Amino acid sequence: MSLVLTDLRVTYPDGDRVLTAVDEVTLQVDAGQLVAVVGPSGSGKSSLLAVAATLLRPDSGRVVIGGVDTGGLSAAGRARLRLAEVGIVFQQPNLLASLTAVEQILAAHHMRGRSVRQQRRAAAELLAAVGLDGKQHRRPHQLSGGERQRVNIARALSGRPSVLLVDEPTAALDHDRGRQIVELLAEITRQHQVATVMVTHDTEHLEHADEVVEMRDGRLSALSSHR
Ligand code: ADP
Ligand code: MG
Repeated sequence: MSLVLTDLRVTYPDGDRVLTAVDEVTLQVDAGQLVAVVGPSGSGKSSLLAVAATLLRPDSGRVVIGGVDTGGLSAAGRARLRLAEVGIVFQQPNLLASLTAVEQILAAHHMRGRSVRQQRRAAAELLAAVGLDGKQHRRPHQLSGGERQRVNIARALSGRPSVLLVDEPTAALDHDRGRQIVELLAEITRQHQVATVMVTHDTEHLEHADEVVEMRDGRLSALSSHR
């Protein structure tokens, strides 16, 4: 399944005027492809992700996920599509302080209305797959920043999404741990054949992306295509 963004425009009220955060952005991400969106702070990257996630409605333009034009869906329909098809990794690993790593994933299953008991083993396997073998019963304060981000990624993958949207996954990490997270995202993208968008303000580790695009003042331009 692919993610197709066409002519997206997002504005915010700004005093008497409007601020254009996303300005006629078009981007296609196919299954198994990792696209990196780089750009300075304030260039509109998070707004673009929020629209792609159907969390924010664009002023104009289309968001098509797996062939479904989300503009034609009700709020409930969008929520269903999001739960079924979209994995979101926010910049801050918004983990619940009282839950262990495996419970973070089970809580997400619970939200999808799935039986938690049947998912326990799959959740443990997913944590092992992101490099957290033996740490599934740790709570967030017992994990490093990089490990918390891995739990965050595992949780986003737990619903088997076809689209993965990742906002500044390496912002809180040092160089090596940042590289490991980007490598993990690239590996997941290929293995699970998800369409992944990774937003980042730093220009490191971009060699793991299939395509790099740059955002400036809400506008997108191609930087490079590797593969
Ligand atoms: P980035 O993620 O690249 O830092 P954002 O999408 O967060 O960029 O922000 C783009 C622009 O939109 C910035 O000027 C920011 O201040 C503004 N902005 C973001 N969210 C809102 C909001 N909810 N209301 C008003 N302005 C916003
Ligand atoms: Mg941002």
